[in-house]
Amino acid sequence: MLVVAEKDIASLMTPEAAFEAIESVFAAMSAGKARNFPVVREAIGHEDALYGFKGGFDAAGLTLGLKAGGYWPNNGKHDLINHQSTVFLFDPDTGRVAAAVGGNLLTALRTAAASAVSIKYLAPKGARVLGMIGAGHQSAFQMRAAARVHAFEKVIGWNPHPEMLTRLAETAAELGLPFEAVELDRLGSDADVIISITSSFGPLLMNDHVKGPTHIAAMGTDTKGKQELDPALVARARVYTDEIAQSTTIGEAQHAIAAGLIRAEDIHELGAAVNGTDPGRGTTEVTIFDGTGVGLQDLAVAKAVVEIAKNKGLAQQVDI
Ligand code: NAD
Repeated sequence: MLVVAEKDIASLMTPEAAFEAIESVFAAMSAGKARNFPVVREAIGHEDALYGFKGGFDAAGLTLGLKAGGYWPNNGKHDLINHQSTVFLFDPDTGRVAAAVGGNLLTALRTAAASAVSIKYLAPKGARVLGMIGAGHQSAFQMRAAARVHAFEKVIGWNPHPEMLTRLAETAAELGLPFEAVELDRLGSDADVIISITSSFGPLLMNDHVKGPTHIAAMGTDTKGKQELDPALVARARVYTDEIAQSTTIGEAQHAIAAGLIRAEDIHELGAAVNGTDPGRGTTEVTIFDGTGVGLQDLAVAKAVVEIAKNKGLAQQVDI
């Protein structure tokens, strides 16, 4: 099998390759050619860790495998980040293990690529201002990927912990964009595209904050109980997602569903917009992409980086 080490991912993987991999796999999912398997996520009763597997099979891209890993909250004492994961790919013709790939940086790149795909297909025409809610590890990746697919003129941002806003200011400067810290009501009225990527367990962006036309990539809510948006805002919007079953249970839509404001049938697959079987935003005022994060995204970027590593002669061969 081939091994691509975590330390080599940054020099091998590009945001362009991540974007193409995620756009293709969303299209394959919506066309019924790729499916995610049920997620396993367990508290192991050791080091307060949450460990699990996310797997799937993409018959269009012939990608079979799983991402294993999770969240170790005490990793600081080992000088390691708390999120740890590895992707394993298997040969779909034989079942033999084909590759082991470091999954930490890939997770950030695939998550940013997912919201960038939503921005490419759903941003209002002439969008100028990008609004960022959240200033943690993922936020810089999100901003860079958004700026790659759309020519924004300005970034505005808000974070529950204002001392972290320097990350947004520095990333905007790196992209050559002016940055302004604002309150949420201004963010909702001035931003044409909003990315939310926090660990919030309550609504931050309220319905009356958002003027429209606006596209919101809601990326932080990936677990039962997490929430970033007012359910009334979700109910007002045309909602897209990576996978409807996850959107209704662990995604942002879980709260609007629980309140009886929307039904699963009201939620659309982003892959259908990519495939052209969904009309996209049209004259809709507010669109939301409920990005929950699926295993097939991890497999898609892992496969892409293995190909890049092979082409550069940098994949290590290990007999197993
Ligand atoms: P981080 O720990 O680096 O940053 C956390 C962010 O959330 C910061 O902006 C912080 O100010 C904010 N925050 C922390 N506690 C909060 C609270 N109680 N209420 C409101 N905001 C709070 O995390 P990160 O790596 O940037 O990840 C951000 C979120 O994105 C997490 O919830 C993570 O699970 C999620 N995520 C989603 C996907 C996906 O595919 N959808 C993938 C990766 C991460």
